[in-house]
Amino acid sequence: MVKIKELRKTALKVLEQTKNDSPLADIDYLFLHMLHFSREDLILGDKILDNQQLQLFDNALTELQRGVPVQYVAGGCEFMSLWFATSKSTLVPRADTEILVELLIEKFKNKSPLNILDIGTGTGCIAISLAYFLPDAKVFGIDISPEAVKTAKDNAKVLGVSDRCSFLEWNILKGFPTLPAEMDIVVSNPPYIPDADVLTLDEKVKDFEPVSALAGGTDGLDFYRKITEDVKLAKNGCLAFEVGINQAETVMSIMKNRFSEIKTEKDLSGVDRVVWGTLKG
Ligand code: GLN
Repeated sequence: MVKIKELRKTALKVLEQTKNDSPLADIDYLFLHMLHFSREDLILGDKILDNQQLQLFDNALTELQRGVPVQYVAGGCEFMSLWFATSKSTLVPRADTEILVELLIEKFKNKSPLNILDIGTGTGCIAISLAYFLPDAKVFGIDISPEAVKTAKDNAKVLGVSDRCSFLEWNILKGFPTLPAEMDIVVSNPPYIPDADVLTLDEKVKDFEPVSALAGGTDGLDFYRKITEDVKLAKNGCLAFEVGINQAETVMSIMKNRFSEIKTEKDLSGVDRVVWGTLKG
């Protein structure tokens, strides 16, 4: 019989011996999002874990000791206040990506009908959040990984938007997919790390997140070039990208041949994180 507060203390001691730089936050993440205790339960600490919960927690702690990111260990994370299950084949959704989604919701909230394609959908966090917050939107998501496609489909089902979301296995580098409608928005947070830099990323990222979701070619810009060149959009359609640090200017110049009104948007740390524009007439 173990109380939350005891387990929290022993687990903290264990994790403090590892390279983990946010041990208490990770432990609390497990209590909240894997075992579904409340914040109040954590503060009071007197609830007792049953054997099954204890076993789950022990296994999860072992994973954290190995350095596995807590979102994979707990099975998912929040994005746009919605819960997204993650899998080994999907990137963990990042808070920075919410900027891109919020921007599109704001710009297109009064447009109907609305067709959207998300390229490299991963968990489906961009596609599904757009479907969730734009109730007139029909959303398509493609990903090179069949496991990611399955994860995205499952997430759409759980969040109640699967009737307006379709996911398809597709490698965008092979060409633009044929879709049943003209797209008003094509959005992508593509892999944008230069290939050689992937090995220099934080261990949590490089050892556990899928390389295919990270590596974007020699200069990291392969996907921006290919998508901008091949994209098919409705008249005045919008192409919106998330970009990596210091990539905004180059991505703008990649886009300027086919797009006008190209703008950038900063993330919470002041980095130009989104580049978007309107298809030239
Ligand atoms: N679209 C997903 C996300 O933003 C996955 C992106 C990716 O795998 N590069 O999290």
